[in-house]
Amino acid sequence: MRVLVVEDEPTLCRQLRTTLEGAGYAVDLATDGEDGHFLGSSENYDAVVLDLGLPEVDGLTVLDRWRKEGREMPVLVLTARDSWSDKVAGLDAGADDYLTKPFQTEELIARLRALIRRASGNASSELLAGDVRLDTRSGKVTLAGEPVKLTAQEYKLLSYLMHHKGKVVSRTEMIEHIYDQDFDRDSNTIEVFVTRIRKKLGQDVITTIRGLGYALNDPEDRNHD
Ligand code: CA
Repeated sequence: MRVLVVEDEPTLCRQLRTTLEGAGYAVDLATDGEDGHFLGSSENYDAVVLDLGLPEVDGLTVLDRWRKEGREMPVLVLTARDSWSDKVAGLDAGADDYLTKPFQTEELIARLRALIRRASGNASSELLAGDVRLDTRSGKVTLAGEPVKLTAQEYKLLSYLMHHKGKVVSRTEMIEHIYDQDFDRDSNTIEVFVTRIRKKLGQDVITTIRGLGYALNDPEDRNHD
């Protein structure tokens, strides 16, 4: 999952990047509204953390522009302490949630997780596909109840596929959502991660659809054919 953070306070910026990367997200940063708007318009993010008080273009305007352009990614707005008018304005402009500064980064992570889950139509924080279970809260994966150790990149890839169960995900989409902007995006590495995940969770867990991409294989889906 890839997240954009638009925030102009350097300390908070660094703190958010460290926490989000630690929680398994690929993170891009923008420190003013103009930059933030550009990235949110041109890249595909699974969620955005948007400060309202920003240089160049303020956060509300940025959000309003995205929504008018048809960008639908979930947006969590950061507001100044006790500014209820900011919260109302943020929600009116199309924010999906808000947090008042100062906040605990744990709360931010929990809210982002919920936003991303809801946006992909998953009500529960545990995602299932056959014998594979992925707990989005703890970041743990089990196979038939047994814990399986995945590397950070393997987890990101599996998590993206599990959030989009029943869909074919192209290699390009995968690259866009599991790497940040600065990552050396070699599409061959996706195939390497898929191979490693298959070794750990079974050959059938991910299906390659030639020319299109990958899909998570959920045995229960076959019942609906
Ligand atoms: Ca600010």
